[in-house]
Amino acid sequence: QTVDVTAPSRSYTITIGSRLRKKPYAYLPTDWARGSNRLLILTDERVASLYLDEVYAAYAEQLPVDTYVLPAGEGSKSFSGYEQATSACLRAGLDRDSAIVALGGGVMGDLAGFAAATYMRGISFIQMPTTLLAHDSSVGGKTGINHPDGKNMIGAFHQPDAVLYDVDMLDSLPAEEWLCGFGEVIKHGYIADSRVLEEVRQTGPFTISDQLLAASIEVKKDIVNEDEREHGIRAHLNFGHTLAHALEKTAGYGVLTHGEAVVNGMVFAMYVGRQLGYAGPEPLEELQWLRTFGYSFKPLRQMDPTRILQGMKKDKKTRSGTIRYVILAEAQQPIIVTISDEELLSLLESFKKEME
Ligand code: NAD
Ligand code: ZN
Repeated sequence: QTVDVTAPSRSYTITIGSRLRKKPYAYLPTDWARGSNRLLILTDERVASLYLDEVYAAYAEQLPVDTYVLPAGEGSKSFSGYEQATSACLRAGLDRDSAIVALGGGVMGDLAGFAAATYMRGISFIQMPTTLLAHDSSVGGKTGINHPDGKNMIGAFHQPDAVLYDVDMLDSLPAEEWLCGFGEVIKHGYIADSRVLEEVRQTGPFTISDQLLAASIEVKKDIVNEDEREHGIRAHLNFGHTLAHALEKTAGYGVLTHGEAVVNGMVFAMYVGRQLGYAGPEPLEELQWLRTFGYSFKPLRQMDPTRILQGMKKDKKTRSGTIRYVILAEAQQPIIVTISDEELLSLLESFKKEME
């Protein structure tokens, strides 16, 4: 399966399939290796222990390869992780004809992508996603690191030369990480493609066909092709995320998984849409369905609406006195509405009551 991205700044192909990690050059643009002089693979400790030897051997068949391994987890998407990654680039002797390979989940993709965006003012990179969430994060060119005062606050748009998605690597993913990425698959279904939801309804949460992955990636791709730099419809991808970010922040990062937070956020966004008079999906029905996957709705049931509102207002997508909110005008029809702080607070309070 392949999906072609034609973003204004660059076109590239996403290849989805089995065993791609063993022969990456077969899926890179023709002559790609000839245009490159050396590679640096950036990955995390957990992924390295599972896949780095194979990936290294495969790339080393045609080019000199160095590797650098960071600790697993969000902590590597930091100034320190960035310093380590770029120091590794220098030590490996990368120049403007070299490339970085991001092997891992969204953390490695964002970090390695940002290193590639900024090292010598920008070099090539290849995404090799190893998590389900990374079917989303590896596409679209957003790269970056966290600032101690805010997630994803430092970054750049930088599209990869290719995305090689070897789905065999998903077999080792822990269930919790799986559900994390599945939240974004479901989101793509809600905002754009009912067939994604239908297939999910049939197969359940813990298997994903290459076709379903491709369909979910297509949703993101279509939006990125149209609005690479998020001046307009790319914001639809934030469906469920305004509340999710506030829930994650008030719980303390790492307490709640991102997928759980997003699923809670999407159900609330459906409620907001309904309360504003739109004909989107019925939130409590969707909640019952999503619960069968193992998602908990405790975050919504236990939230403190006042604190959550404060958390939302700190989100970078807000304007003073009002919040821009992505809702569904009807199924697969996301729109952005502006809601006043008071209105949102009362919606948070009334939905919390409905969940009791
Ligand atoms: P992650 O990269 O930290 O991976 C999660 C965990 O799974 C890690 O411990 C990792 O070592 C482990 N892991 C990875 N692949 C594995 C495998 N195949 N088998 C076993 N274990 C494996 O987290 P993530 O959920 O993939 O990504 C989250 C990050 O993505 C966040 O920082 C978020 O901000 C970012 N993100 C970016 C975008 C974007 O557009 N750039 C979009 C969404 C999310
Ligand atoms: Zn998300």
